[in-house]
Amino acid sequence: MPHAYDPTNIFARILRGEIPNKTVVETAHTLAFHDIAPQAPVHVLVIPKGAYVTFDHFAAEASAEELVDFHRVCAQICADLGLSIGSGGPGYRAITNAGGDGGQEVPHYHLHLLGGRPLGRMVERA
Ligand code: 5GP
Repeated sequence: MPHAYDPTNIFARILRGEIPNKTVVETAHTLAFHDIAPQAPVHVLVIPKGAYVTFDHFAAEASAEELVDFHRVCAQICADLGLSIGSGGPGYRAITNAGGDGGQEVPHYHLHLLGGRPLGRMVERA
């Protein structure tokens, strides 16, 4: 089934400048900003500027340039915020939710970068 993109979603509105955001990094293809309801001392959302609904949609259909740009922004944030274990940081968690079972609230692909405290188990046991 094709991924139907809803251009009225809140992140599309942020990308159009209709809603303010606290930007961390912006490039030609990617925007990263602080989550409005942080779940950890660091909670950054990284989104592509293109109209992608989920991780698998982005992974399947984005250009090589978009894919590289997105992931380099993630790496830059991990370095800049002192999270990367590669530079002695404490680590972090990268999460993406997709669709109903994934608990996705905003239907524009986004990666959550969480850190600044031990984050516990990845998923609640049912
Ligand atoms: P999801 O549940 O879709 O994986 O995550 C959506 C995230 O977007 C949530 O963590 C929520 O706090 C965040 N969010 C929702 N609306 C806004 C907004 O208007 N601005 C910002 N910065 N974050 C938002």
